[in-house]
This record gives sequence, structure tokens and C-alpha cells, in this order.
Amino acid sequence: MEMPDRGRGRMMIRSSVLPRRSGWYNNNSAAAPDHRTRKSRGGRVPDESSTPDGRVVHIVGGGIAGLTMAILLHRSGVPCTVHEAGSHRSGIGGGLNVATNGMKVLAAAGVADRVTAAGTTVDTYALLGQDGTVLVEFPYSEPEVHGQPCVSLARATLLGILTDRARRLGVDIRYGAKVVEVSAPGDTLRFADGTTASGRLVVGADGAHSSVRRFVAHQGSTAEYAGLVGIAGATRVAALPGLDRAEIEAITLTIGAGGLLGWGGGDAGTIMWWTYLPHDTDPGWPVTREKLLDRFAGYPKPVGAVIANTDSASRVRLYGVAPLPSWHRDRAVLIGDAAHAVPPTSGQGASLALEDAAHLAGLLAAEDDHRAAFARFEQHRRPRVERAVTEASLGPADGDSAVAALIVGGLPGGPDLIRRANDVLTESFVGLYSDEGRRWKFGYDVP
Ligand SMILES: Cc1cc2nc3c(=O)[nH]c(=O)nc-3n(C[C@H](O)[C@H](O)[C@H](O)COP(=O)(O)OP(=O)(O)OC[C@H]3O[C@@H](n4cnc5c(N)ncnc54)[C@H](O)[C@@H]3O)c2cc1C
Repeated sequence: MEMPDRGRGRMMIRSSVLPRRSGWYNNNSAAAPDHRTRKSRGGRVPDESSTPDGRVVHIVGGGIAGLTMAILLHRSGVPCTVHEAGSHRSGIGGGLNVATNGMKVLAAAGVADRVTAAGTTVDTYALLGQDGTVLVEFPYSEPEVHGQPCVSLARATLLGILTDRARRLGVDIRYGAKVVEVSAPGDTLRFADGTTASGRLVVGADGAHSSVRRFVAHQGSTAEYAGLVGIAGATRVAALPGLDRAEIEAITLTIGAGGLLGWGGGDAGTIMWWTYLPHDTDPGWPVTREKLLDRFAGYPKPVGAVIANTDSASRVRLYGVAPLPSWHRDRAVLIGDAAHAVPPTSGQGASLALEDAAHLAGLLAAEDDHRAAFARFEQHRRPRVERAVTEASLGPADGDSAVAALIVGGLPGGPDLIRRANDVLTESFVGLYSDEGRRWKFGYDVP
């Protein structure tokens, strides 16, 4: 494979690497709402009380999948309402990379240009040793091949753009609308305030802690805490003199004695970073910052400066969900993280959620028979999601718990352990980002 010659070693960031455990996977819970602390700020609350509208598709969850589904359904003339437990953009921290395949869906939703302008186009993906040596590096965005770049940005920025687009189209988004139950035959929602809403169908886009999944899985599936906390922050590029453009337009991971740390451009003019730690109590950012500076001392520049110049960071517990026997039941169907747990290693959770939204929206717009649409949706989507999950597992690290712990938990390791961890990650990267790895992920078009 030809590697771009950028003249100097780079570092970048990306999602983490999480091991397969007992048939379930650590998974994103980044947008999982903390219902104890979120408050509705002026958002509309459900005003129906058993007032059925036989045409409306009720979308539970106003995250990446739910908002995109609503935009695409609305544009096809299918009436829909989004019910979001939280308030607009509240409590949403951290950043993410939307890969080319996800960006194609955002283009169909009419927001790709805004997303690209708001974030950073990622040209390369690299793994560095603690001494700054480039262990492996791949081209990442290939817009000339696949039509869209891969873009990193703050999660709140992406949700803000999607929300704005949905509102301009006239999509009905209701905040503070926490669904607590779906009733048979999957067309009626009950909210935390006791009101209900009925319609044609229910789409569960409510993430890893999905309420709709309880109905679809006959109460049988809950998210399991993986015992890990993701920590993410961002700082201004201006605070980091000496960074060149190639370093910013990249995702760089380093594994060393402190575990894995990733960084790269995020919202335009910012650098975002992330790491994973074993669960501990939150002592507050100033204390955590000092701990992280200590943990990552000796990592290649600009890691220390990036953390030192970060004013606050988000903490996210990571959860896993066992694979479901079915993604739909009666009139209810699941998409995104509610349907499938994709390890952060894949960097594909958001993009697969976007693909789900686009595929299901197309089927529902074209097909009156929801049973046929749901069956076709799952039949087509499941193999692709399963391939992403398998590809993102750590492979050799499944049998090497010390390496897995170092990579995902940041436990201090000696030189030999660090070398083994880098071998594992290098092998994993070759699978994820080789020509074939990029082709099947980024080259995909939703039918
Ligand atoms: C640390 C970390 C880094 C990641 N990095 C990347 C990355 O770089 N690239 C990538 O592609 N993916 C990444 N992911 C995964 C990605 O964030 C998820 O796959 C994606 O957010 C899934 O979108 P979703 O809309 O299905 O679910 P969510 O984003 O979880 O949205 C669900 C929405 O439903 C709402 N909701 C929940 N329960 C209810 C209820 N009962 N009633 C009403 N509303 C409800 C929530 O408030 C939320 O708004 C990362 C995950 C983590 C944890």
C-alpha cells in the first residue's frame, strides 16, 4: 500500500479499541441521557393522551439516527414526530468521526456541506509508538474515490446541524419526551409524564439504553456496563503552536505506558482528544487533568499541551448490548445503537446508525406493508453490521487480557506489554483500514 509522505511523523486520534467479552461488546453510550439531570428547556412535551394518528411514524430518540430518519421520512412525505428525552443539545459532550459512508447519508439529508465546513476532514489515520515512531499509517478520506470525506467534529455540532435542518423542514421534535413503555402491537408510546401517543409505527432510535428495545426483545435485553469510562476533551489549535495541517487533518493514536490516547482535528480550529480509563469516581476536571498529564507524560508532542490546554472534559460510561434475535416486533423497529452494539474500535457506530436511518426511511416511503419493510431492512443491514463488529474486535488481544487491558484501560504496562499492544493494534489497523477495509465500509451506498 502506498502511504502518503507527509514529511514528518504524525499522531492522530480515533475511537478506542475494545475487546470482545462473553458475546457482547462495549459500546457507545455517549448520548445516553441522564434522565435524573436533564431538564426540558422550553421544549414541547407530548400533548396527546391516547389520541391516535394512524399515519404518524413515531421516532423515539432525537440523536444522530432519529433526526436523520425524520429528515429523510419528512422529505418523502411520510408524517413523523421525534420524541427526545433530553432537551435540545443538553449534556452532549465529546467528538466523533463520521466516516465517508455516513457522510453520504448526511449528503442525502442535505447537511454534508455544513458538516464538512464545521469540522475537520481527516486525510490519514496513524498509530505512533510512545517515542513518536510511525508504526502504521493509512490514507483515510478519499472523496475523489467515494464522493465524500471522513469528517471529525464535536457531537453537539453534528446534532445542532441535524436539528436545524429538521426544524427548517418542519419536522415536529418534542423535547423532554421520555418514553417509558411501548405497548402491543408496537404502535403506542407511554411517556414519563403519563401521557401516551399512538400512530402507524414506532422507530426506536433511542440508543444503547433503548426503551423501545424492551418491547422488541420481550423485556429480554439491557445494556451492560463495561467497567470503562471514556474521557474526551478539546482545545484550540491556536493554543498549540507548531502543528502543521497534515497533523491536524488526521487521527493519531499512541499506545504507551499510560494506555491509548487519540487526538486530531475536531470542530474547525480545534483539536479533540480521547482516552479510556478503568472506572473511577470523578474528582473533577482540574484533578483529572493533572492525573492525565502524569499518565501521558512522555507521549509524543503535542499530547501534553493538548491536555494541559483543555478547559473541561466529558466522561462517558461505556456499555454493551447482547446481539438481539430480531430488530423488530409487530409495529416497532430498532435502528442505530438501539438495534446493535458496535465497538468504538470500528469508528463506524454513527455511520452505521446513519445508514440504518436512510435504508429504513427509503423502505417505509416505498412500502405500505411495514412487515415486509422491516424484514427487508434487517435482512440487508444485519450482515453488514455484524461484519463491522467482527472486524473491530481486537483479534489476537481476545486471548491476551493484559494487552486488552492496556489498550482499553490505560493500565501501566512495561516495554514488552506495550510492544505487544502495538503489534495487536497494528494488525487490527491493517484489517480496518487496508484498501479492502476502506472499500467495503466507505464504498457502500444505501440501496
Ligand atoms: C467514546 C465514544 C466515541 C465514539 N466515537 C465514534 C466515532 O468516532 N465514530 C462513530 O461513527 N461512532 C463513534 N461512537 C459511536 C456513536 O457515538 C454511536 O454509534 C451513535 O451515537 C449512535 O447514534 P444513535 O442515534 O443510534 O444513538 P444515540 O446517539 O445514543 O442517540 C439516542 C438518543 O435517544 C435519546 N433517548 C434515549 N432514551 C430515550 C427515551 N426513553 N425516550 C426518548 N428519547 C430517548 C437520547 O437522549 C439520545 O438523544 C463513539 C462512541 C463512544 C462512546
